[in-house]
Amino acid sequence: MNLTEKKIFWQKLCELSDKGALTYAEGETVAPYTTFKIGGKADLIIKVLSRDALAEIVGAAQRENVKFCVIGNGSNVLFPDEQYDGAVIVTTGINSCLVDGNRIIADCGYSFTSLAVQAQKAGLTGLEFAYGIPGSVGGAVYMNAGAYDGEISFVVKKTFYYDSVNDMLGCFEGDENHFGYRESVYQERDGLIILGAEFLLEKGDKDAISEKMQGFMNARREKQPLEYPSAGSTFKRAPGHYTGKLIQDAGMKGYSVGGAQVSEKHAGFVINKGGATSSDVKELVSRVKKAVLQSSGVSIECEIRIIE
Ligand SMILES: Cc1cc2nc3c(=O)[nH]c(=O)nc-3n(C[C@H](O)[C@H](O)[C@H](O)COP(=O)(O)OP(=O)(O)OC[C@H]3O[C@@H](n4cnc5c(N)ncnc54)[C@H](O)[C@@H]3O)c2cc1C
Repeated sequence: MNLTEKKIFWQKLCELSDKGALTYAEGETVAPYTTFKIGGKADLIIKVLSRDALAEIVGAAQRENVKFCVIGNGSNVLFPDEQYDGAVIVTTGINSCLVDGNRIIADCGYSFTSLAVQAQKAGLTGLEFAYGIPGSVGGAVYMNAGAYDGEISFVVKKTFYYDSVNDMLGCFEGDENHFGYRESVYQERDGLIILGAEFLLEKGDKDAISEKMQGFMNARREKQPLEYPSAGSTFKRAPGHYTGKLIQDAGMKGYSVGGAQVSEKHAGFVINKGGATSSDVKELVSRVKKAVLQSSGVSIECEIRIIE
């Protein structure tokens, strides 16, 4: 897509760039913006530096039918090997965080792990589970990220959004977020962009919080293949089952397609052993699903967001 022909969008891009509210590059590779280290070039990669700039550039893209994809830390996405014919909008430059009593208000691009650290420093409990999840606040809200019996829905009070379809700002409180297992309202409706979130926590003992966080981090290091690029657990938990065990029982632990492999350390993770392509991962995922269905009769679903 020649984006310079999209006049309103291009003008907005240049205006925001001149103001220092974003930077952009044409034809850059997406892979470095993802933890999988996979993905071809994108027509445009835009790094936004403020909530306003994010809303403005997404609004302009929506108005002129420019394809776009907003990402945080790229730790739960798989981009195609082919050129992404639109704008990849990266939010990690929008990263302020404010602690106010029992509340923390954080921008969409703020690191989820740093959020846990801020909570610990303020003697607030409830976000220990976030320590070690390599995402942004926006990505964590979108995915309702969780671990070790904690999840974002337990601690989020409000999420702030820009609705690019109706060109309006808003916020969802509590149930309006439609949180489910790795689900949120943001997956249900097109064009909703998360700008930030407010968390409500409880007072706790700083040392006890810190100890819990360290325990979780140690468990991650021990059980997860953190030495290889990945997008975390590739599949959702099937009700009543451990997905890693289903995959192992299907004989797929260590199975490879090209550079993609079902981790030998944790069968729930597909890792990039070196030079994996998006097609390798997709083919591997499809073979694993088939093998699990054949061996146990359980249908497993992909947790990673496949970007087309
Ligand atoms: C080693 C490893 C361990 C992991 N462990 C866990 C774990 O324990 N628990 C867990 O839940 N996840 C885990 N993950 C997955 C991932 O870290 C989480 O899903 C995380 O919340 C994704 O955040 P992100 O910023 O990287 O999102 P991205 O990967 O950048 O995006 C994920 C999705 O959210 C959308 N999105 C992102 N930001 C916005 C925004 N501002 N507005 C609208 N949409 C947005 C994207 O379009 C995409 O569809 C792990 C990943 C890795 C690599």
